[in-house]
Amino acid sequence: MQQLQMVDLKRQYQKIKAEVDTAINHVIENAAFIGGPDVHSFATELAQYLGVKHVIPCANGTDALQIALMALGLQPGDEVITPSYTYIATVEVVALLKLTPVFVDVDPDTFTMNMESVKKAITSKTKAIIPVHLYGQSVNMEPLLAIAKEHNIAVVEDNAQAIGSTYTFSNGTTVKTGAMGIIGCTSFFPSKNLGGYGDGGAMFTNDDELAQKLKMIANHGQQTRYYHEMVGCNSRLDTIQAAVLRIKLRKLDEYCYSRRQAADYYDKAFKNHPKITTPYRAPYSYHVFHQYTLQISGFDRDTLQQKLAERNIPSMIYYPVPSHKQNMLKEYGVENTILPVTDMLQDCVISLPMHTELTEEELAFITNNLIEIIG
Ligand SMILES: *Cc1c(COP(=O)(O)O)cnc(C)c1O
Repeated sequence: MQQLQMVDLKRQYQKIKAEVDTAINHVIENAAFIGGPDVHSFATELAQYLGVKHVIPCANGTDALQIALMALGLQPGDEVITPSYTYIATVEVVALLKLTPVFVDVDPDTFTMNMESVKKAITSKTKAIIPVHLYGQSVNMEPLLAIAKEHNIAVVEDNAQAIGSTYTFSNGTTVKTGAMGIIGCTSFFPSKNLGGYGDGGAMFTNDDELAQKLKMIANHGQQTRYYHEMVGCNSRLDTIQAAVLRIKLRKLDEYCYSRRQAADYYDKAFKNHPKITTPYRAPYSYHVFHQYTLQISGFDRDTLQQKLAERNIPSMIYYPVPSHKQNMLKEYGVENTILPVTDMLQDCVISLPMHTELTEEELAFITNNLIEIIG
C-alpha cells in the first residue's frame, strides 16, 4: 500500500492526465495566461451547474469573501455574524475591512451555525451573516434566510468546503449551496472538492447589479480600462486554472459520489462504537464530505492522532483554535465569547483521510487501526 494522504491529488491526476496536460499546453501555446475563453467558459459552465445567473471568478476564496463584503458597501463598525468554528478566512476578511465580527455557536451534530445563537446575536448594527457550509454539508438555510429577511440582513454564503452540495427546502425545492444567499463564495484551492492546480476562487449571484459591482471590484474598480470608479483590488482566476477547473467541474458529481462512498465505509466501520461519533447527515442537505470528521470521547484525541501517525495514518484537527480565541482578533475582545459547543468540539474532533481515490483496502486499514488503538 502507498503512503496514505489526507487528500491524494497525485492519483486523481493520473486518471485525468491526458485531458489536463492537453488543456494546460493549449493555454501555454497560445500564451493566453490572463482572461480569455477558458475563464469565460468556466464561469458560464459553473453558473449552469449551480443554477445561478452570474459567476465571477477571482484569485482565491478569501478574496471572494472580501470582495463580496466590499460590494455590499458595508461600513467600518457594521456587525457581521459568523461562526467561530470555521477556517480563519471567513473571519479575517471581516476584520480586514474594519467590520466587527460577531461570533455564534454551532450545532454539535452538523458543526454548522446554530439558529438560536444567530437570533441572539442580531443587533441594529448587524449588516451581514456568513453561513459556512462546513465539511461539505449545508447550513440549515431555510430558517437562516427567514431570520435574515425579517431583519433585512445580507446573507453571504461561504461555500469553500461544500461545492456540489445541496439544500432542500420544506416545499421540496432543492438548491445548490452557494446559490441561496445574495452572494455565494467559493475556493478552488487544490484540496477543495473542486480544486485547481494552484489558487482560485469565485463569487456567485443572481443580482445583475451586484454581479457588475463584484466584477469591477475584482478588477481595480474599473469597467472601462483606466477609468476607475471605485477602490477595488486585483483578483483574477489564472487561465491555466480555469482550463483545469473546466475538466474537473465535469467530474465534480462523480467526485462527490466517491467521497460519499468513502464516508459510507467509515460510517459502517465505526457504527455504534461507544467512543466514536460519526458525522451526522442532515436530512435537508446532500453531504459532499470535504472532510470526514469524527468526535472522540473516552479516549484522548491528541493521543489518538499521535498513535495513528505512528502507523502512517495521517489525520488533521480542523480546527485546533476557534476563531474567537485567535490572537489576530485580540483587539475585538472576543476571546471570552461564550460558545460552549465550539469550545467542546475543539478538543474532540479529528478528520480522517478523505478524497476521491480511497480504496477499500486503505479504508479497512484506517478503520481497523483506529478501532484497535481506541479500544
Ligand atoms: C479554504 C477556505 C476559505 C479560503 O479559501 P482560499 O482559496 O484558501 O483563500 C474560506 N473559507 C473556508 C471555510 C475555507 O475552507
